Amino acid sequence: MHVRLADESVCIGPNSAALSYLNIPAIISAAEVTDTVAIHPGYGFLAENADFAEQVEKSGFIFIGPTADTIRLMGNKVSAKQAMKAAGVPTVPGSEGAITDDAKLTLETAREIGYPVLIKAASGGGGRGMQVVYSEAALLNAVQVTQSEANAAFGDPTVYLEKFLDSPRHIEVQVLADGQGNAVHLWDRDCSLQRRHQKVLEEAPAINVDQEARAAVLAACVKACKDINYRGAGTFEFLYQNGEYFFIEMNTRVQVEHPVTEMITGIDIVKAQLSIASGEPLNIRQEDIIARGHAVECRVNAEDPVRFVPSPGEIRYYHAPGGNGVRVDSHIYSGYRVPPYYDSLIGKIICWGSTRENALNRSRNALDEMVIEGIQTNLPLHRRLVSDSGVRSMDINIHYLEKLLKA
Ligand code: ADP
Repeated sequence: MHVRLADESVCIGPNSAALSYLNIPAIISAAEVTDTVAIHPGYGFLAENADFAEQVEKSGFIFIGPTADTIRLMGNKVSAKQAMKAAGVPTVPGSEGAITDDAKLTLETAREIGYPVLIKAASGGGGRGMQVVYSEAALLNAVQVTQSEANAAFGDPTVYLEKFLDSPRHIEVQVLADGQGNAVHLWDRDCSLQRRHQKVLEEAPAINVDQEARAAVLAACVKACKDINYRGAGTFEFLYQNGEYFFIEMNTRVQVEHPVTEMITGIDIVKAQLSIASGEPLNIRQEDIIARGHAVECRVNAEDPVRFVPSPGEIRYYHAPGGNGVRVDSHIYSGYRVPPYYDSLIGKIICWGSTRENALNRSRNALDEMVIEGIQTNLPLHRRLVSDSGVRSMDINIHYLEKLLKA
């Protein structure tokens, strides 16, 4: 669909992402032959690749995002945590930096943090490169395994330790900054409904949180943007437990779930990215950014709703829901073939309501109205979630969905 709608298109390689969407020289050449001014990296593939951002700018194009140095700083979770700590943002208790070869020190550090601990890859992403350890006996072996897995998956064996929080919510803060000293937050989102550390359903704003702690964290994010001279759209991710926020990582790009924030604030985040990239100073004041009502996003995946294996193939019939407060972001249509090569996300249903209940009711109607035939999707899971009593009463945390699926 995107190729059909584009004014101009250039083939950058075959199906394999390594040879096309991750192929930096091919993308730079495509930009050269089309007289490109700027490159928007989206939210997959090279969106958080500092080398790509650097090569884009060195080749004379504008990279729509932060500087390569910022991406590098935040792309490494160890340096990101250190930078956030320095800016006064609370972080998850853990090792001061990466784990070294000193086994005795590693054991001591874990004992101080207290079990269970989480071993995390500094360069990890997409919910991968994480391992929970419940006892000292298992620690050193698990560290080794995670190091070699991280090296294989991300080309970087660096790991660090964090306290494994048993029942936190995932709450994140959307920011916009112009790299010229101005920064604002666009309130928060709750993305606690996850499977294998991957978000399934998100909402904005985050409700049932300690309002004092929330205000402090929102202010800290804005300050951090100014401290690191952040440029573009970005997200600070936190775990929230017992009234406290703990920073886990920053995403230096627009995120899949950005529409829920657009729905409650009326701000077009992608448009803001373009305006910032063109060098314009931020033209919105914090006090003018009002969170109105509530929005819910359901990520529609081409996958078996029970076993969660990908379900590529031809969509024989597609009908999208509509109506007041309903937004569908998708590239699919009747006759579209979902390729087997990429992520299974094929669409997002975003519903706004004056209250959370209203947004969930609209989501329920929209999910019932949506038809995707020919392949399997996780629509049945979403239909269950938006009517689920725990979800309705906001009695959720990052483990809720997996427990529900097991029950
Ligand atoms: P990724 O870059 O792979 O998305 P994150 O650091 O953002 O990794 O973590 C993804 C998810 O993993 C979080 O939303 C949360 O569910 C879980 N997680 C991360 N750190 C912790 C922790 N210290 N304790 C418990 N769960 C965690």
